[in-house]
Parts: sequence; C-alpha cells; structure tokens
Amino acid sequence: MNKEIKQTQISELGEFGLIDRITRDIKIKNESTLKGVGDDAAILDYQNKMVVVSTDLLTEGIHFNLMYVPLKHLGYKSVVVNLSDIFAMNAKPKQITVNIALSGKFSVEAVEELYSGIHLACEKYGVDLVGGDTTSSLTGLTISITVLGEAEKDELVYRSGAKPNDLLCVSGDLGGAYMGLQLLERENEVFKVNQNMQPQLEGYDYILERQLKPEARGDIVEAFKKLGIKPTSMIDISDGLSSEIMHICKNSGVGCNVYEDKIPMDYQTKKMAEELNINPLVAALNGGEDYELLFTIPLSDYEKVKNDPDFTIIGHITEAAEGTNLITTGGSKIPLTAQGWNHGKIKNAT
Ligand code: ADP
Ligand code: MG
Repeated sequence: MNKEIKQTQISELGEFGLIDRITRDIKIKNESTLKGVGDDAAILDYQNKMVVVSTDLLTEGIHFNLMYVPLKHLGYKSVVVNLSDIFAMNAKPKQITVNIALSGKFSVEAVEELYSGIHLACEKYGVDLVGGDTTSSLTGLTISITVLGEAEKDELVYRSGAKPNDLLCVSGDLGGAYMGLQLLERENEVFKVNQNMQPQLEGYDYILERQLKPEARGDIVEAFKKLGIKPTSMIDISDGLSSEIMHICKNSGVGCNVYEDKIPMDYQTKKMAEELNINPLVAALNGGEDYELLFTIPLSDYEKVKNDPDFTIIGHITEAAEGTNLITTGGSKIPLTAQGWNHGKIKNAT
C-alpha cells in the first residue's frame, strides 16, 4: 500500500458507498448479461448454450502474502485463475461475481487497488463483473470469485475423454510461477531480517510475472477453433503437471508416457532453480500456478500442432495397465507421483 496516498477508513463511506466506488464505472460487454450490479440479483440470458460455472476461494496468509503481492496483482490473478478453469472446459468466460471479506487494516484506497486489478482482468478477457458481496473479517482479506461461461454442448471438453495413442500436449512453459514464488519468498525472508535490504529481483522478470501476473490461455482455446482441433480431454495446470496428468489418466481410464526432455521450461526457471539448488523438473512436475492447459488430441491431429510454438507434445496416452510414467532423459521409466501441491501448502513447500 502506497503511504503517500490518502487512506480513507471504510467506515467513512459505509458498505454501500464502498460498493458504489468499486462498481460505478462498470460497462456491460456481453449480450448474455441482462442485468449486472445494482439489484438483488444479476440476470443472465444464455439462450440455448450450456452454462459453465466455477468458483475459487482465496485467503490471506494461505493463498497469498500481502508482504510481496501488490493488491492490484492479487485482484488480477484472482480473476485469471477462475477464467483458466472455464477455458479448461473449452468454454468462454462471460461473467464473474466477487465476494470479499475485509479486516480493519484495509482502507477504501486498498480495496480500490484490488478492484483495479479485477477490472483490468475483466477488460482484457471481455468478462462482466455482475455482482458480489462485501463483508468484514477479523483475520485479513478473503476473496471468492465465481465465473460463468458458455459453450455449445458439443464443444465442451472434459478430463475424461483421453484415448490410448492420443498425444499429450501442454501450452506455454512450466515451473516458472513456482520458481517466481521461491524467489519472492527468499527476498521476503531477507527483508524480514534487514528492512534496509533492497530485493534482488533483476534478471527474473519473466518468472516473477508468471507468479504475480499470470494469464489464462483463452488464446489456446481460440487456436483450437482455428486449427479445427477438439481436444479429447483437457485440464488447466494449477497444481503441477504431475497431478494434472494423473487426473486426466484416472478420469479417462488410461495410462501415459511423458518424456522428461520434452517438458517445456524457460531459461529463467532453470537458472533460478540452479541458484536455489532445486531440480527444475520438480518445479514443473510438482510446482503449481502455471495456469497452462494440458490436453490430449488424436494422433491424426499431429500435423496441426507440430509447428505451433504455443503447443508442446510431451508424451502419449497408453492403456491403463501400463501406468502413468515419466521417461527420464537417461531412458529409465519411473512412475509419476501425484504430489500436486495444493496452494494452501505453499508455505511449507520450500
Ligand atoms: P444484498 O443486500 O442483496 O446482498 P448488497 O448491498 O450486498 O446487496 O449489494 C448491492 C449490489 O452490489 C448487488 O448487485 C451486489 O451484487 C453488488 N455487490 C456487492 N458487493 C460487491 C462486490 N464486492 N463486488 C461487486 N459487486 C458487489
Ligand atoms: Mg450483500
């Protein structure tokens, strides 16, 4: 929180004054939004489309640390992580509702900062903020966002459709958000000991952005449409590649072989891992918050993805009896373990 900006107590405005401040500039973008903020309930018209709904709950000290996460980034990321779940169904997000609980330490300006990030994400992804609830809390900030989206029934992609011989693919690169978090945690520890120390973050802008300002891969869902691809299964990578692969395999009743040397990782991810003595593969497999998409496509779609820099083929689906395996660079086959971390355990993960 910027100390130079005047801090207004929420009690000066009251709950209704605060809600008005954070919602007064909203302009509805989507046809399906008949009524947004301002009545007892929002009204949506999805006609004959399928409605896709997902929700998330984030609590201060468990899912985020305000020592190093700016409120605007937190607002942006809280929206993005929800949108990612809708994209993972091959659907389009259209509306969100935002619930917040605030303790006494938050000023009106702090809530406006949080909402500036929320509004920015809504702009970027063409989503309407149509409602929410505001209440007080004794223990810091809690944010819960619900997102609604749409898809034609036959466009929807579940975790359960992977078939033997399908190609297993990911978008983007992995492990960056986890290494960004390790860096922020390290610098925060240094700062706690000596408040005059400036954080050493140079050269790591990419992994910091992966942690603080992730994007949801709606562009990949659009690319599927352009390329004429409908994945046979899909999931977003929020808890690490390993556990997401296990989800797809379990739900689809199949096994897989994943090749270590195919797992895409950025240079900064590897460099930070080396500096902190962490195996970068662990960051990709068991880190989290990458918000990339993991999906399977029929082998016959190989030509459509092989030259696309946004997609990496990391392995293939097998019969369930073969198990879920990692084929190491050295050629050994080891079972993948689902150590998916839950964001809640993040503090103990170092
Ligand atoms: P109610 O008493 O029915 O809960 P509120 O006074 O809480 O109504 O809310 C008034 C309007 O403001 C509603 O349309 C509600 O959806 C919206 N709203 C309340 N809190 C928020 C928030 N934190 N973010 C966005 N919209 C909100
Ligand atoms: Mg209310």
